[in-house]
Amino acid sequence: MKTLHLQTRAEEMADITAQVQAAVDESGVAEGLCCVYCPHTTAALTINENADPDVARDILYALGQSFPPHAAFRHFEGNSAAHVKASVLGAAVTVPVQAGRLGLGRWQGIFFCEFDGPRTRQYTVTVLGTAQNAQPAP
Ligand code: ZN
Repeated sequence: MKTLHLQTRAEEMADITAQVQAAVDESGVAEGLCCVYCPHTTAALTINENADPDVARDILYALGQSFPPHAAFRHFEGNSAAHVKASVLGAAVTVPVQAGRLGLGRWQGIFFCEFDGPRTRQYTVTVLGTAQNAQPAP
């Protein structure tokens, strides 16, 4: 398992696909699963289009429209909207690893989603599977 860090803006979807692929490269796994996990309560992970940056912008816009700050929220920190957005998207994504590459679709990328920044955040990448040069047992 590898722990990676990033510095976030107030709210953003940071494309971490290259960093996750580098962790897969480092693991030496050729065929298996890659689990990316976010250990925060106001940040999340999601997979979506990274070809047009307006898609990520529109997702943030839609989440903001759907889950605005609300006077009825009781949480003392005042960031319940960020907690709700994080729960809606989820804390982990799992991607198949095929021939040493993340098995993402052509237009897909992995995003670290910040809803209560700026902060220094972290996430973990765990890669499980068969190594590149694995030989069958004698
Ligand atoms: Zn809070």
